[in-house]
Amino acid sequence: MSEDFAALADRAADQHRQRPGHGLFVSWQGLSLADIRRDLLRRLDAAGIHAVDQEVRFLIEHALAPARLAEALADPVLAPWQKLFDLADLATARLTRKPLSQVLGTQPFWTIDLAVTGDVLTPRADTETLVEAVLSRRPSARSDSLGRSVELVDLGTGSGAIVLALLHERADWTGLGVDVSSRALAVAQANAARVGVSERVRFLQTSWSHALADESADIVVSNPPYIVSDVLTGLEPEVRDFEPHLALDGGEDGLDAYRVILDDLPRILRPDGLFALEIGYDQAAAVSGLARAAGLVGVEVLNDLAGLPRVVLGFRNCSSR
Ligand code: GLN
Repeated sequence: MSEDFAALADRAADQHRQRPGHGLFVSWQGLSLADIRRDLLRRLDAAGIHAVDQEVRFLIEHALAPARLAEALADPVLAPWQKLFDLADLATARLTRKPLSQVLGTQPFWTIDLAVTGDVLTPRADTETLVEAVLSRRPSARSDSLGRSVELVDLGTGSGAIVLALLHERADWTGLGVDVSSRALAVAQANAARVGVSERVRFLQTSWSHALADESADIVVSNPPYIVSDVLTGLEPEVRDFEPHLALDGGEDGLDAYRVILDDLPRILRPDGLFALEIGYDQAAAVSGLARAAGLVGVEVLNDLAGLPRVVLGFRNCSSR
C-alpha cells in the first residue's frame, strides 16, 4: 500500500471541507431528516425565497432519489450521510438565490424535461401558452403544394424549449433554432438529444433572422428579451443575478427585439405562414401594432393561465409580402 489509512482519511476530509455544502452539512450532525427539513424551510424562508415547502421537497427528493420525501422521513436508511451531503451542496447553492432550475440542472417544460444552465433563460410555464397556441393553429402535419414539410424557426432559442417542445409534439416537422450565444446553443443541442429530436433540428449561431433565406419558414416562434432595461435591476435576484441579461433585456422600452424581428418576418415567412411571439403583460398593444405595421395579418393577442396577455400571433398574407 503506497498510502496509509490516515493519509487517505485526511485527503477525504480535505475534499469534504472544499465542498460548498460543508458548513451546512456539519451543522446538521445528529439531526434527523425531519429536523433537517425544518432547518431548510427556515433558512430558505430567511433568504427571501417563496414557496419554500415545495422547494425543500424538490431539493430533498433530488438528493435522495429515488426515495420520496415521505419514504425517507419514515426510514433513515434512505438518507445516508453521502446523500445528505449532496443535499447540503444543493441547498447551499439555492441559498445564494441561484434559481432552482440551475441548482438541479433541469426544468420541466410542456411535456419535456430540459437541461438548464446560467447560459439560458429557464423555461417558464408562461411560455407554454405560446406552444399551445401554435399547436392549436397547426393541428397536424401539413406539407405545402411543393411537398415540403413544415419548417419551424425559433428566434433566440436559448435552451431550445419552444422548438423542442413543438418538434416533440409534431413528428414530421423540422426546426431551426437560432441564437446569438454559442453557449446557449450548446445547451439547446444537448436538449435536442435529450428530447430525441436531434435529426429534425438544426441550430445556427446568428442574430435574429437576417441570415435566413426568403420564405424559408412556415412558422416562426420567439420568446425574445422584453424587459425594460431599467426594470431589470428591480427583479428577483434569481432572475437579475443568475439569468442571462441577453435573454431578458429588451432595451429602453422593452421592444427592441420585436422591432427587429417583426420588420424581417414578412420576408422569411412563406405565404400563409404563422408567427407567435411571447410578450410582456403590458406589451400587447405595442407589439400588435408593430406586427400590423409590418404588414402581417390576423393579428391577435392570447392570455396566459394567469389571464395576462402573453402571446401575439398572426400570419403572413397568402398573396402579398
Ligand atoms: N418572463 C420573463 C421574466 O419575467 C422574461 C422573459 C423574456 O424577457 N423573454 O422573467
